[in-house]
Amino acid sequence: MPELPDKKAAFIDWYLAVVDAANLTDKRYGVKGMNVWTPYGFLARRHLDEVLVREIEVTGSSPVEFPALIPANEFAKEKEHIKGFDAQVYWVTKGGLSELDIPLVLRPTSETAMYPIFALWVRSHRDLPLNVYQIVNTFRYETKTTRPFLRVREIHFFEEHTCQVDEAAADRRVRSNLEAFGRMAKAFALPYVAVRRPDWDKFPGAAYSVAFDIPVGAGRTLQIGSVHHYRENFSGPYGIRYEDAEGAQRLVHQTTFGLSERLLGAIVAVHGDQKGAVLPSSVAPYEVVIVPIPSTGAGPGPETTASEIVERLRTHGRRVHLDAGDERPGAKYYRWELQGVPVRLEVGRREAAARTATAVDRLGRKQTVALGTLERDVDTFLQEFDRALYDRALAAFRDEFQVVRSLDELKAFSHVGILGWCGSEECGHAVETAVEGGLLGTPESELPLELDAPSACISCGSSTGVRWALAGRSL
Ligand code: ZN
Repeated sequence: MPELPDKKAAFIDWYLAVVDAANLTDKRYGVKGMNVWTPYGFLARRHLDEVLVREIEVTGSSPVEFPALIPANEFAKEKEHIKGFDAQVYWVTKGGLSELDIPLVLRPTSETAMYPIFALWVRSHRDLPLNVYQIVNTFRYETKTTRPFLRVREIHFFEEHTCQVDEAAADRRVRSNLEAFGRMAKAFALPYVAVRRPDWDKFPGAAYSVAFDIPVGAGRTLQIGSVHHYRENFSGPYGIRYEDAEGAQRLVHQTTFGLSERLLGAIVAVHGDQKGAVLPSSVAPYEVVIVPIPSTGAGPGPETTASEIVERLRTHGRRVHLDAGDERPGAKYYRWELQGVPVRLEVGRREAAARTATAVDRLGRKQTVALGTLERDVDTFLQEFDRALYDRALAAFRDEFQVVRSLDELKAFSHVGILGWCGSEECGHAVETAVEGGLLGTPESELPLELDAPSACISCGSSTGVRWALAGRSL
């Protein structure tokens, strides 16, 4: 069986080999950057989406779905937004054989699709807050090298859009989104940092942006989503106004929260190892795979016991798969490890006779499970697996960060750098040149190191207004 490239030495090759071997996607479709969701990948995506839906709906957000095509005149209303996206969108210019009077944009994100309608929905302060989200495909004409889940042209995308009474209420929505993301990330066992982007790197049209960055090794980070405060930047041009309690007309303040299929890429990138993908149980298409080990002899056969286990775990609400094919057990173990299944239950003749099964998790831990307490034991074993997976990711996450004191030091750096920054754009760009990547910005979540306040800016040496900032290379 072919070996995977080394994760440390050849990360991207390793990543591409794993998503392929784990059967999460098929990248042989005839359009660059548009991949096929295989049955296994689709199920992983569905379970991932279920976590997003659960965590956003408890914060009072409702599902909607807006059309994929946006009229060019609506798309052009917010100047910075159009400037940011102009060169990256797909245009639909023909309907059948005739040129369209108004060309259509295939949504790169849905502000300009939703906001003309929000202007009709929002009338009074009683209509606020308006918190809606959708999970749809968005499109970007990506010119760089495409990679499954990480950089694609058709993107599976979660986006929440909200309208609030004022700036403070919108700030609170941003906080609520940051907390919701914390719960989502925990469900995927992914440690991350929330980082407020520098002004020159914020989302087009945003007053400020907070992004979620996940380190994936050697100082490289993956931005998997972000939250934006728009203030009145969109509600002005789109006329989203409400009548307040005193009868005055006011513009709403808006926020958005976006997450892409990169989350699945991050799960593979962070948790995967030399044996393949490792999926947290929240996402795994099968939480448990049952493998009967065929044998001849007297007494109850392993197949009967395996079927009983499948039946009971399924009734208990677990996602299970019975692998009763005629391959050798070793080949089956290899494949399910490659595909990242959290727990496998092996049943041989000895186990069948003793009414037990041997449980092995994807991190290699082993335990005997008695059929008498099957459901409870499997629940506990899965919980322990998820916890161990998070602990392993957290230990790697902590090792990714290092304080750096000079620009020279930054040049030869293979960590995510924590550095003092005075906040000026000039010094920010000096950092970006040195690191050959981005000044990610200032952290909004706790850093994984104990730190005193920074004493000086890494670039100009000034000690006024200095705060910690993060710098890293993007993947
Ligand atoms: Zn400075």
